[in-house]
Amino acid sequence: MNTERPSKDDYYLSIALEISRRGTCLRRNYGSVIVNRDHIVSTGYSGAPRGQRNCIDIGVCERQRVSVPPGERYELCRSVHAEMNAIIHASREQMIGGTLYLAGTEHSTGAEVYSARPCKLCARVIINAGIEKVTVRETQEKIHTYKVADWIRHEDFLSVP
Ligand SMILES: [Zn+2]
Ligand SMILES: [Zn+2]
Repeated sequence: MNTERPSKDDYYLSIALEISRRGTCLRRNYGSVIVNRDHIVSTGYSGAPRGQRNCIDIGVCERQRVSVPPGERYELCRSVHAEMNAIIHASREQMIGGTLYLAGTEHSTGAEVYSARPCKLCARVIINAGIEKVTVRETQEKIHTYKVADWIRHEDFLSVP
């Protein structure tokens, strides 16, 4: 039995992973946990706007149907992204200086998505929310933390092609 106590990053990433399983897209689903001073401020998963049908309800994700490459044409999927859903459920004061934990799962297999990175639009929203760090799992063993200040400095990451 593994009795090793998980690190805080592990703990919050495990919660984000569990939250991603509530997502409603047929392609991939993500879960976000916003943490500030060891306190969970907000959570969110990918899903259609309230009152609208989800990809899983209509049986098709347009983005998946036309095989859009990673990082492009997010508007074709019906989902509001996990990061955005977490951010709109917290106040700016709660988020300033905080960390957003992001984890994902493949809909078809339930396998964890490693090296998740927010899309360009979510990155902009994360910057304006005042969040300082974004933490993801690179592999089962390795955790990576992005500094949002680096995204602000490297503007090309934020420009939409
Ligand atoms: Zn979708
Ligand atoms: Zn996004």
